[in-house]
Order: sequence, then C-alpha cells, then structure tokens
Amino acid sequence: MTTVLNVLRDLHRIHQQLADIQERLERCPKLLHAAQVKVNQTEASLQEKKLHIQQLQLASKEQELILEERAAKIDDRQARLKECSSNKEYQTLKDEIQTEEEANNELADKILLAYEVIDQHQAQAKEIEDSFGEAQQEYDTTAVNVGKRETSLKVDLDRIQTELASTESGLPSEFVSEYQRLTSKRGAGALGGVSNNCCGNCYQQITAQMMNNVLTGKLTICGSCGAILYPEE
Ligand SMILES: [Zn+2]
Repeated sequence: MTTVLNVLRDLHRIHQQLADIQERLERCPKLLHAAQVKVNQTEASLQEKKLHIQQLQLASKEQELILEERAAKIDDRQARLKECSSNKEYQTLKDEIQTEEEANNELADKILLAYEVIDQHQAQAKEIEDSFGEAQQEYDTTAVNVGKRETSLKVDLDRIQTELASTESGLPSEFVSEYQRLTSKRGAGALGGVSNNCCGNCYQQITAQMMNNVLTGKLTICGSCGAILYPEE
C-alpha cells in the first residue's frame, strides 16, 4: 500500500518536472523569435530613416538648382543693365534684380535650415544603426545561449522520461488504464495530492470515505476535478 502511494507521489513530481521542462523548452524559440523581431524592427526603422534622408537631400538639391538658375538670371540682367537705352528699362531691370535677389536670399536660408534638419536626421540614423548592430549582437548571443539551454533541457527531459517510465512500471495494474488516460490528457493535472482532506489539484474537500480509500491505496478519483488522489506526506 505504501508502495502505491509512493509511486503516485513520485509520478506526480515527475509529471510536474516534465511540465516545467517542456514549458522552458517552449520558451526557447520564443526568446529567439523576440530577438529576431527586434533586429527586423531596427532594420526597418533604419531603412525608413535612410529613405527619408534621401528624400530630404533630393528636395534640397532641387532647391539649389532653383537658386542657381535664378542667380544666372540675375547675372544676365546685371549684364543687360549696361546696355540699357532708357531709364525706364534700366529701372525695370533693377526692380526685377532686387525681387529675384530677395527670393534667392530667402531660398538660401531655407536650404540652410533644410541641411540642419538633414544633419539631425543623420545623427538619428547613426543611433538607429548602432541599435541595429546591438540587436544583431544580442540575437547572436541569444541564439548561442538558447542553443545551450535547449541541449541541456533535452538531456534533462530524456533523464526524466526514463525515470517516468521506470516509475510507471511500479504502478499496480488496476491504476494503469485510468492513469494513462488521464496523464495523456492533462499531464501533472492527472494527479492530486490530498492534504487536510482537500484535493491538491482543485482544492475541493473530499469525503472521509474517499480519504480512507486514498490512505489504503485504492484507486480514488477526485469528484470535482477527476484527478487520481494520493496522500501528501
Ligand atoms: Zn480535485
């Protein structure tokens, strides 16, 4: 009788260890995935920033072209000033030159500001590039660590599965089919240690008759959660 109770207790502990290892194994690819997501996100924001800088640079180049064309027009008008035949023509040219010069001064200021903005974006791009490098390094480190962890967890898993098989062989025949049916569905939840007349799986109270059955090593199923019951130490 004591043997049955010890076997059930051991099986419950082994199933809990199995669940813990399986949960830790499942976490491994998730950790790697999270590191990959970070790399991808940083890379995407770097690309986006670079594209934005390119667009700003292109816009500034276009503005510079306008500035140059207008400067050429001003030069042209300056030359024509010397060949003027009337005062009126001279004044008109003078006015046009002034208007264009004002426009160009304004545009030159605008271009200067645009370059300052581009500089700021380039500084931000540098920061993102650094983060991208860090994220890649972090991914590599995570990949190595996760690999090591998986290997060690699989060794533990093998060891515990062997222990499970050998412990299961000590289960009395009348327990076997119910035990197999329940553990295949819910793992560690298939067993419940009873303490203070309560099922340790669902915390519902059990009857005195059930407690008596549990203590005498009879196959006893919790009326609430359906777990196989055994007495806690
Ligand atoms: Zn229960």
